[in-house]
Amino acid sequence: MLKKFVLCLLAVSVFVLTGCSKKEEKSDLLATIKKRGELIVGVKYDSKPFGFVENGKLQGYDIDIAHLMAKRLLGNENLVRFVEVTPSNRISKLNSGEVDMLIATLTITPKRLEVVDFSVPYFYTGQAIMIRRGTSIKTVGDLNGRRVIIILGTTGERNLRYFAPEAILQGYKSYQDGFQGMLNRKAEALSTDDAIIAGFVMEHPEFMMLPQRYTQEGYGIAFRKGSETLSLQNEVNLAINELRRKGYLNYLKSQWLPSFSENFKK
Ligand code: GLU
Repeated sequence: MLKKFVLCLLAVSVFVLTGCSKKEEKSDLLATIKKRGELIVGVKYDSKPFGFVENGKLQGYDIDIAHLMAKRLLGNENLVRFVEVTPSNRISKLNSGEVDMLIATLTITPKRLEVVDFSVPYFYTGQAIMIRRGTSIKTVGDLNGRRVIIILGTTGERNLRYFAPEAILQGYKSYQDGFQGMLNRKAEALSTDDAIIAGFVMEHPEFMMLPQRYTQEGYGIAFRKGSETLSLQNEVNLAINELRRKGYLNYLKSQWLPSFSENFKK
């Protein structure tokens, strides 16, 4: 009887153990990506110079990072499929499984860390203010009582509510629409990351970026939370650290933001 019981117990253990290891294997996203032979990345299509379409080509700093990740994970930088995301839908597109990761000018914040995991930072930025040249606005405090464009779902929106609580916010869903609002004089200022403003100001010299930065933020690659993405996160962090060590992140910055030098700093 005892022998039968022990045998039975053994059989159950083997079943449970093999079942578990199969499950673990199945739920490892890095293994799934390798099997699929394609990395699926959520990127912006309207945030020059990070992710934008010009002459029919999707390009930018974040797009280059995505190609580098495909090379690292799959040995070929072209094995990447891009899915457009916006500030309002990017986290739900990640958490619903539509994309493997987000490389989408996404600032690492404690609030976002409650719902996604982040890589180490790959780019540093800060909130800045863009105005039409000749406007009397000098600091974030001057925005109180004035119309200011923000992009919904961004750190710019949240920060401005804190730093200029009496600003009259005009929320837009995309950068394209937000910048168009400035061109159409719908507001006196626009607030977002300095690197994104730099991309716009480079092409529209009638606008300028104020020297003040009222936050410091790091962009991270975002992953779904959970053990499924841990090996992917490790590999991506190793890749970012290596790109930084080899000076490649600085090279990318000089390529995509050539004028993002001391002119744009404090
Ligand atoms: N980096 C900021 C954020 O994560 C603004 C840029 C963006 O929304 O893409 O909210």
